[in-house]
Amino acid sequence: MSKDVFVFIEQRDSELQKVGIELLGEARKLADSLNQDVVAMLLGYNIKSKAEMLIHHGANKVIVVDDEILNEYVTEPYAKAVCAIIKKYDPEIVLYGASSIGRDLAPRLASRIHTGLTADCTALEIDEESKNLLMTRPAFGGNLMATILCENHRPQMATVRPGVMQALKNNPDLKGEIVEEKIPFDKSDMNVVIKEVVKVESKKKDITEADVLVSGGRGIGAPDAFNMLGELADLLGAEVSASRATVDAGWIEKDKQVGQTGKTVRPEVYFALGISGAIQHIAGMEESELIIAINKNEEAGIFGVSDLGIVGDVHAIVPKLIELIKKE
Ligand code: FAD
Repeated sequence: MSKDVFVFIEQRDSELQKVGIELLGEARKLADSLNQDVVAMLLGYNIKSKAEMLIHHGANKVIVVDDEILNEYVTEPYAKAVCAIIKKYDPEIVLYGASSIGRDLAPRLASRIHTGLTADCTALEIDEESKNLLMTRPAFGGNLMATILCENHRPQMATVRPGVMQALKNNPDLKGEIVEEKIPFDKSDMNVVIKEVVKVESKKKDITEADVLVSGGRGIGAPDAFNMLGELADLLGAEVSASRATVDAGWIEKDKQVGQTGKTVRPEVYFALGISGAIQHIAGMEESELIIAINKNEEAGIFGVSDLGIVGDVHAIVPKLIELIKKE
């Protein structure tokens, strides 16, 4: 009988990625509702030392596949290893990050294992009566939220947006089991040749990884105003993000967009500057720990979710803020 909630743990250069840790937190909730365990799947090369950390973040068991062929992410060997684990352990649920790796790996596995996959989920829940997994994701360009279930096949599988789920605090007192699996790889599994890995040199973090975000909306008036936001962000060690109105206007790149059809963020501090607070924007940032909004309209919806609201002109307030920080 299928059992346990499995999480595919993403790593790059042996560094665990945030999304996998977030998924362990969500898997813990789902597993508790089912009275089952959380199992992390950790694949890579020289990676075993990271297994303990996954137990400290909520995994009851970590299955490690440590092999040179898994040094860089390549679809075929990774798919072979995860497929073998799923066939052996027969999980009830398998979660992947909706990252470039998860989006590549999960559909391939769904097809191999003959099960369904709900992509890009923003909420997961166990139905109390049927004990099926309810998987919710935006549909029709974000115009409605669809809840999907996989009734007749196991495992139930989902990719989940980074930044949506909450990681558990690191607890070194948690205990668990580490199991090593050997997969019989052969040369034909490596069907691509990696000649070179070129790293993009960038000081900038992805907005989902930033602790502080300075986010601009149409109210900043013009694309150049993002320079002012960038200056504030640099002083605060923050990243710049944006509303969809500014992305659609071509003022800033799409990967900076926060919201239902952009990215979900959960920083420690979120500055909403000249952002009205449309429901689709709020959906992507309302879990931020501290929300500071500046808007010249005291009725703006953003004030409904902000911890500190300043009614005023961003062009008057932000330069003063920059000046004050520089003086400190
Ligand atoms: P506006 O709504 O134009 O607001 C500008 C604000 O700036 C106003 O509140 C105004 O009072 C204030 N302002 C103006 N001048 C100043 C000034 N000088 N100083 C201070 N304040 C000033 N939106 C997203 O952001 N993310 C999404 O992912 C997203 N997905 C969507 C999906 C769908 C299916 C749909 C239909 C819409 C989506 N939207 C999304 C769009 C959303 O509905 C809003 O249109 C958008 O968020 C508005 O952006 P904004 O707040 O920057 O602009």
